[in-house]
Amino acid sequence: MEEKILKEKILRESREMFDRIEEVSLKNTEKILRVFRDARVSDAHFRTTSGYAYDDLGRDKLDEVFAEIFGAESALVRTQFASGTHALATVLFGILRPNDELVSITGSPYDTMQTVIKSLEEFSISYRELPMKNSRVDLEKIPEVISNRTRMVLIQRSKGYSSRESLSVEEIGRICAEVHRIKPDCICFVDNCYGEFVETREPSEVGADIVAGSLIKNPGGGLAPTGGYIVGRKDLVELASYRLTAPGIGREVGASLYDNRILFQGLFLAPHVVSQALKGSIFAAGIFSELGYRVFPEFKDPRFDIIQAIDLETPEKLRAFCRGIQKFSPVDSFATPEAWEMPGYEDRIIMAAGTFVQGASIELSADAPMREPFRVYLQGGLTFEHAMLGILGAVEEISKVS
Ligand SMILES: *Cc1c(COP(=O)(O)O)cnc(C)c1O
Repeated sequence: MEEKILKEKILRESREMFDRIEEVSLKNTEKILRVFRDARVSDAHFRTTSGYAYDDLGRDKLDEVFAEIFGAESALVRTQFASGTHALATVLFGILRPNDELVSITGSPYDTMQTVIKSLEEFSISYRELPMKNSRVDLEKIPEVISNRTRMVLIQRSKGYSSRESLSVEEIGRICAEVHRIKPDCICFVDNCYGEFVETREPSEVGADIVAGSLIKNPGGGLAPTGGYIVGRKDLVELASYRLTAPGIGREVGASLYDNRILFQGLFLAPHVVSQALKGSIFAAGIFSELGYRVFPEFKDPRFDIIQAIDLETPEKLRAFCRGIQKFSPVDSFATPEAWEMPGYEDRIIMAAGTFVQGASIELSADAPMREPFRVYLQGGLTFEHAMLGILGAVEEISKVS
C-alpha cells in the first residue's frame, strides 16, 4: 500500500480512540486548573532560590499541587533527583530497614531497578518476586508471597522492557486492596513511570501508599529539564526526603536552581503532551501491524502507558527503525544511532533520541535492547505531528533494508 493511503487508513481507523484520549486529556487539564486555582498558583512561585532555600515558596507550592493532583497527602518534587531510578531508589532506601522484605508483585522489575534492588542485600533487606501469570498480576498467589517480614510491595505500572501488559489504575487498586487485606501495614509502592495522565486517576487515588516517577517522562510535559517526584502518605514521603537530603533536614532544603516556572508549566501541559504521545503510539501500532509486524499493545487494545513495542525481527531493521526516528528528530538529526552499554542495563541498548532534554522519553524516542526479537520500544512525542513524521520516517528506512 502506498504510504499516503496507509497513513490515511490508520488515521481514519484511529478516530474513536483519539476521541477518548482527548476526553481524558480534557478531564486531567480541568483537574490541574482546579488544583492550581485552589492553591492560588501565581508568578511569585516561579522565582529561583539559592543556598539552603529555606521557605522556597515555589518548591513548596509545587509539592502542594503535585500532592493534590495525585490525590496524595504529600509530595516531594525535585530537580535534585537525577532520574526516575534515583527517585524510586530513594523510596526503597528511605523506607526499608534491615530484616525487612521487599516483594515485587509484577515479576521482574525494570532493568535499572534490578541493580538497585540487588544492592538492598548489602543492608540485609531480602527480596522476592511474584512472576506475572499470562502477563497479568497473579492475584491468587499474593497471600503466598507476603510474610510478616514483607514491609513493602513493588508494583510497576508500565511494562518497561518486557512483553507483559501494563496495569490499569483500576487493577492497581485491586492489587493494593488485596495486599492490604492480607497485611494492612504493608506498603504498596508504585513505579508510575510512563503512566501519569494516561487515565483520569493515579495509583495514589486507589490505595497505593507511595508512588514515584521521572519528570523527564509524562509529568514534566516535555519542559522539565531534569528531576523526579514522589507522592504518597506523609510519613513515607518524609522518610524518603531524609534519604534524598539528610535525616532531620529532609524537604526543608534544596534550591530551585532552575526556573520553577518550567516545572509548573510542564505539569500544566502534561495531560496534553501525554495525549499526543498516546496518539503516536496508536498510529505506530496501526502502521506496523498493517505492515505485518507484531505490536504490543495491539492497534485497538486499551492503553495504560505511552509505550508501543514493535518486534522488528532483525538487527538490521531495528537499526533502520532507529535511524528513521533519529532523522526526523529536531535535535541531532544527522546522528546515526549505535548500540552501547548503558549504565544499569544488562544488554547493549540502541536508542534514537534527538531530544531537547537529554534522554527525555516524553519526547519522541525509541530504545531497544540488542536481543531477540529485536523489539523496539517507541514512546513520546511532544506533538502528534512529530510522532507521525518520525514513524513514517522509520517505515521508510526499514523499506530500504528489506
Ligand atoms: C523509565 C523508567 C524507570 C526509571 O528510569 P530513569 O531512566 O532512571 O528515569 C523506572 N521504571 C520504569 C518502568 C520506567 O519506565
